[in-house]
Amino acid sequence: MKKCILTVLGLAFLLGAHARAQRGQILNAAELEIAAHKLNVLGSVLYVGAHPDDENSALMAYFSKGRKYRTAYLSVTRGEGGQNLIGSEKGDEIGLLRTQELLSARRIDGAEQFFTRAVDFGYSKTAQETFEFWGREKILGDIVWVIRRFRPDVIITRFAAEGSGGHGHHIASSILTRDAFAAAADPNRFPEQLKFVSSWKAKRLLWNTGGRPGPAGQEENKNRLRVDSGEYNSLLGKSYNEIGGESRSQHKSQGFGMAGRRGSQTDSFEVSAGDPAANDIFDGIDVSWNRVPGGQKVGALLAECLKTFDLQQPSKSIHGLLGAYAELAKLPDDNWVRLKKEEFLRVIQSCAGLWMEATAGDYSVAPGDSISIRTSVINRSDVPITLHGFGFPGAAPDSVVDRPLKNNEVQTLDQTVRIPGDFPISQPYWLDAAFQKDPLAGSGPKVYGLAENPPSPVEKIALSVEGVVLEYAVPLSFRWTDQVEGELYRPLEIRPRVTIQVQDKVSIFPGENPKKIKIRLMSHSVSVSGMVRIKDSDQWKVTPAGVPFSLSSKYAETEAAFDVTPPKSADEADLTVEAEVGGEKISRSLVEIAYPHIHRQVYFPESRIRAVKLDVKIAGKRIGYVMGAGDEVPEAIQNLGYDVVPLSDEMLGSADLAPYDAIVIGVRAYNTREALRLAKDRMLQYIERGGNLVVQYNVPSPQLANQIGPYPLTVGRDRVDVENAPVVFLAPDHPLLNDPNKITQKDFDGWVQERGLYFASQWDDRYETVVSCHDPGEPDKKGGLLYARYGKGVFIFTAYAWFRQLPAGVPGAFRIFANLISAGKAPGKPTGGKN
Ligand SMILES: [Zn+2]
Repeated sequence: MKKCILTVLGLAFLLGAHARAQRGQILNAAELEIAAHKLNVLGSVLYVGAHPDDENSALMAYFSKGRKYRTAYLSVTRGEGGQNLIGSEKGDEIGLLRTQELLSARRIDGAEQFFTRAVDFGYSKTAQETFEFWGREKILGDIVWVIRRFRPDVIITRFAAEGSGGHGHHIASSILTRDAFAAAADPNRFPEQLKFVSSWKAKRLLWNTGGRPGPAGQEENKNRLRVDSGEYNSLLGKSYNEIGGESRSQHKSQGFGMAGRRGSQTDSFEVSAGDPAANDIFDGIDVSWNRVPGGQKVGALLAECLKTFDLQQPSKSIHGLLGAYAELAKLPDDNWVRLKKEEFLRVIQSCAGLWMEATAGDYSVAPGDSISIRTSVINRSDVPITLHGFGFPGAAPDSVVDRPLKNNEVQTLDQTVRIPGDFPISQPYWLDAAFQKDPLAGSGPKVYGLAENPPSPVEKIALSVEGVVLEYAVPLSFRWTDQVEGELYRPLEIRPRVTIQVQDKVSIFPGENPKKIKIRLMSHSVSVSGMVRIKDSDQWKVTPAGVPFSLSSKYAETEAAFDVTPPKSADEADLTVEAEVGGEKISRSLVEIAYPHIHRQVYFPESRIRAVKLDVKIAGKRIGYVMGAGDEVPEAIQNLGYDVVPLSDEMLGSADLAPYDAIVIGVRAYNTREALRLAKDRMLQYIERGGNLVVQYNVPSPQLANQIGPYPLTVGRDRVDVENAPVVFLAPDHPLLNDPNKITQKDFDGWVQERGLYFASQWDDRYETVVSCHDPGEPDKKGGLLYARYGKGVFIFTAYAWFRQLPAGVPGAFRIFANLISAGKAPGKPTGGKN
């Protein structure tokens, strides 16, 4: 056989490039059977929705594992605007978490994952508002890019492009996909992309009108196409809707745990553009090798090989697979040719039980430093395989070793690799400002649209089988053994030489006094020394001008303190914290996101402090806080100058609550804390005796009924999404608007993402309304802030989004919130009036 090189390096450019979990690198018999037969199927489906969780997970599994099509989900956003039920990540960080949850879901249902640059900015009521925020042409271009890159046979939208109501992002995602379906095929549209991809005409565009349990074919609309996504797969011992349930349950930050449905499940489709279809969504699409010019021979050889494919002895098929591959390698470059080469590599690897790993001596390394790498390769078959050579692209030249790999004998190679000084750090590509501005510049086209960065660095391992050289790209990883979990892997991280953590990313200055600001430096290199400073401005003074530091070992930490003096009047500033190391200026902090259901993430946002000088007065001293779904409001209250005591379940049940000037209930605490519902009588008693209970937003649920407040109050679903929606003062003399801080319209300026959510929909007339607001074209909503006297105390219900405004350092929000927690303690007298 002629010598040829199969290259997968650089294929990340064209593929979803999942960082394959080390554990899953060799397929078991059932997976291998599916993967081997998938080599002979050339069909592809792209499913489009707006958010993580919009995808039809059962369909993903049905197409990918049942019909064996190349399947992908394009989520227009990464879900940055959602609430987080498992931690305190918000914004970019929750986008990172949800990206990984989607990838965990895809590892279960077998599909790939793509994104655009659109940001989930929270709930939106119209597609028009969504377009204004996203930039219609920009996101259309992103979807066109993904279509031209993925080249799907059919495109399916989750939502209809027409219609009203529902989330504006949903309708917008479908309108853009409809437009992109046509634009991707038109070389005059987005011609700048054609340097990297060619135009693509998908056969048809469909709308997934819905799925419902029950016998297939009973839906009334006869024009609809149907599939049964509840089919059972005996190889996997599961139906596709069961797999869909497991996949969907990965959306843990949204609390989407799902039971696996069993039984037939009809999914219906309507053709919205392209060729009509009478029987099946793939009508008229050839999914065989015949669609690739010269590909018939590959298909015939594969079919022959698959006839005798023996799951007991899959290595016997390697010879046949290599024969089909040799034909494939002769074909001119083509999307399917590149994709199938990658699939062949994986199938051959699994047929030989070939395990390959490149483990590093540590979990991180800084550019310019060296790290030890152990390469282990083992062949678990009788097929003669030679370890031809290896290399580290971008870091070290290739070496040729030509070692035979005998059946079941591990071969190891130890090397020390120096990471070049200009090697990029492990920063998610989409958080880079230059990429956001122009994704086609520099190395942008290699990552544009991908779910995450392709693994980097990788080790290139070349094997020779029957004279054919197969090249694998193995991500460098760190392996360790956890006493509970057993063997674990994480990708090798490239970290800046030093990172700077600021204790409070938002620093509140309630008075004129200087404040001590502490920062922590951490070394990620053997020895780092230099000078760290907070860059000041005309208004804000920082002393000293710089603090020298010296860290003599990797991961060593040290602290530096600065006195920051605010200006006399209210002001806001972003102060950059910067370390100067050998002439290089580094301003990066380190954020790690780790949960058992996702691959661990790190990222390095700029290290800076948002300094806010407030004009604020407070009353009271001690605040009890009942944490709900996780928020940063307690830190904000502390910043105002209060002592904040977190109230545990036990304390809710038995501690003396009288010493608290106010008790604040965190977001969704009634939804997540049973103990809080059980403590209702104690809470009422606390108010009656002169306390102040402040309740933030909760999601309506049956358990919530009659739980909140001293008088009847129903939590509804009303929200005000426009963050600068005008606010009306219904009771200008109300203490909440006057004591101790005089609240004006200015205090509602500069809010982020939304005004509020889950406003009260009905309330007893003993509650007083204070302010109102509404989204454009909607009736005024008064249920966002309710106040009631009860006994000697005060009860406040507030669905305004403090959990977003306070951590973002919105000055007015601090002034209003100070009034809420000072209520009853401030000098002014409650009015007791009604509105
Ligand atoms: Zn959605």
